[in-house]
Amino acid sequence: MTEKTLAAVATGTKQTEIKEVALPDIESAAGILKVEIVGVCGTDVSYYNDLKAPMILGHHVVGHIHKIGEAASKRWGVQEGDRIVMEEYIPCGQCELCRTGLYRLCPDTNPKVDGIRYGATPIDIEPSLYGGFSQYMYLHPNAVIHKLPDHVPAVEAALALPLSNGFEWMRIIGGVGPGSIVVIQGPGQQGLACALAAKAAGAETVIMTGRQSSLERLNLALELGADYIVNVSSENLAERVKEITNGKMADLVIDVTSGGTDPVVSSLESAKTGGLVLLGALKGKRFNDFDLDIIYNKSLTIKGVRGHSYKSVQMAVEFISSGKFPLAKMNSHNYPLNETDLALRTAAGEMDPSRLLVTVSPWQ
Ligand SMILES: [Zn+2]
Ligand SMILES: [Zn+2]
Repeated sequence: MTEKTLAAVATGTKQTEIKEVALPDIESAAGILKVEIVGVCGTDVSYYNDLKAPMILGHHVVGHIHKIGEAASKRWGVQEGDRIVMEEYIPCGQCELCRTGLYRLCPDTNPKVDGIRYGATPIDIEPSLYGGFSQYMYLHPNAVIHKLPDHVPAVEAALALPLSNGFEWMRIIGGVGPGSIVVIQGPGQQGLACALAAKAAGAETVIMTGRQSSLERLNLALELGADYIVNVSSENLAERVKEITNGKMADLVIDVTSGGTDPVVSSLESAKTGGLVLLGALKGKRFNDFDLDIIYNKSLTIKGVRGHSYKSVQMAVEFISSGKFPLAKMNSHNYPLNETDLALRTAAGEMDPSRLLVTVSPWQ
């Protein structure tokens, strides 16, 4: 008898249907994951709000190996029953980007050019189970996995990918270490992960910014280790950074806010001469009236940052496994599989403006 799985399939824009999908017979280099928990990401929300083809969303996936082919078991060093964190990427492993460690940018795993990745692959691509909002998920031969100890609470494990971005951008790319002064714009899941990673890396001062509507999240940032918060609805960021740092300004500023271009400008203003400004979110906008000379005058480095490396996911897994940080505070809502639609709307801010990490547990 063919085994089946229940999956929450996004069938159209803002539509989710629970469907039965057959589990595939797997080849030696592949496997099947029994999904334990999935964190809802901003990217899931963008797909949900503008769906191009039916697919199973969800790519911040934690689970146990349900079935594994002989070759996959050998290559990945895992057995049936092992607990793992998945990366979303399914890279080719062969191109220059893959071979130089930048597999996150491999065209084969870029959905914008018909690549496949978890949580963004149409169900008409066999064996359809490429999303985490499902009881079982297909483990593609090119999947990237990380072993996870059994003692880690599921809701904390679901933070592995956001936290890995934090470590990638703060520590690996941003070079944050003891003494660093860091400004993080946007207290969402990603910004809070950056604050945690910056503090873990030894930053002396972490300043988190947000609007009046994000006050609750800004206060959570303080609980998670940020040193100062700035309400940009009523305060001028560059002036506040000047006061807080006694005129030194920030070594590193990251903008992980979506939508506006104002935070980009205030990021440039808040960085020190010779500082680094990282842009970590899509804006979907063009700049019109913008004084480019600030970049020249302050000799700034500006860099776009996207996704995480193998190393940063390992850092995140070890950070979470240490149990030293109050990560459970970041989980605000948990839903069963049949409420995946509600989970997506919650993550989109339709139900609760203060939501943070929203998760789906497909077996609850
Ligand atoms: Zn994501
Ligand atoms: Zn590649």
